[in-house]
Amino acid sequence: MKLDATSTDFRAAGHKSLEAHVQVKPTAADRPHWEWNREHLTELCVVSGIDVDPTDAAGPTEIRVVEAPGPTCPRCWRRTGEASGSRHDPNLCRRCAAVVEKLPLQNGAGEKGSAA
Ligand SMILES: [Zn+2]
Repeated sequence: MKLDATSTDFRAAGHKSLEAHVQVKPTAADRPHWEWNREHLTELCVVSGIDVDPTDAAGPTEIRVVEAPGPTCPRCWRRTGEASGSRHDPNLCRRCAAVVEKLPLQNGAGEKGSAA
């Protein structure tokens, strides 16, 4: 596996891991592992996203880190490159917007009256 110098430069520049988007060019042998586990690897590596190049690496698997495009989701802090435009917060990512949409409203619901 060949880690591009951008990954160490990225941390040295003071970026957080969730500001990272990882680009992987795997060998033909490594490709199934990257593609099948991409969502889990994104969570485990605490990065905003992982792209797997459709072409195979000629040598070892190549990994490059770039800054993920904004905006930053105010709930999960990921940068998915698109905002949901949610009525709760327009910068929520689509995944968080779907979760927040299902949450009960705080005003009225669940209140049991005054305790006094
Ligand atoms: Zn989110």
